[in-house]
Amino acid sequence: MSDELLERLRHFQSDAFPHYRSQFRSLVDDGQRPLTLFIGCSDSRIVPYLLTGAGPGELFLVRNVGAFVPPYDQSHGFHGTAAAIEFAVLNLEVKRIVVCGHSHCGAIRALYGQVHPAAQNLARWLELGRAAALPAAEPDPDVLKRTEQRAVVLQLERLMDYPMVRERVVAGMLTLHGWHYVIEDGEVHVFDVHRGGFVPASLAENAGTGPYALPARDIALDASGIPTTGA
Ligand SMILES: [Zn+2]
Repeated sequence: MSDELLERLRHFQSDAFPHYRSQFRSLVDDGQRPLTLFIGCSDSRIVPYLLTGAGPGELFLVRNVGAFVPPYDQSHGFHGTAAAIEFAVLNLEVKRIVVCGHSHCGAIRALYGQVHPAAQNLARWLELGRAAALPAAEPDPDVLKRTEQRAVVLQLERLMDYPMVRERVVAGMLTLHGWHYVIEDGEVHVFDVHRGGFVPASLAENAGTGPYALPARDIALDASGIPTTGA
């Protein structure tokens, strides 16, 4: 029986890696300095490197079911996503955090149905999106889309409960970006708090600034929505 994964590993080293050898060498010698923490749904159809055109060393990735952010205050339990947020902000000093949900998200649909009775961790995890759900027994595509987008904003708000995130956002050192990726269109809709909703990237003025992203005073933003002053 052929081992497809093994073949792909060998192919990577012999055919793909040589193109990146020097890049990986410097990333090892100098260490990683990614500017973006990308929190995305685990869905296989989201490919963060394709979406953003990023290369090795550019994205610090966290993926989980639904692209959810657990609460900062935990009395018990192991929370990989919370640990990654703390590490990215405190150690890597990322400049932006992207929360990326998407169309046809199984986690969001599951908010309107039953999960497998044995999936006790999943059932508990989905509670992190519960407040985004709308009162609908049989959600239509529009309700699902709105729930997907509301869930992204909910996670941005929960990010602001992390003291190290809030501190840096208020200081203009970190921006929060809420994205809703429409798989079938290949287009990300970015949450724009000033325009009160999600705007297709083709019409957006920046990569999206979440709630609380801007201090009261006006500051200049670069094309990525990052403050050009104090950064
Ligand atoms: Zn999903």
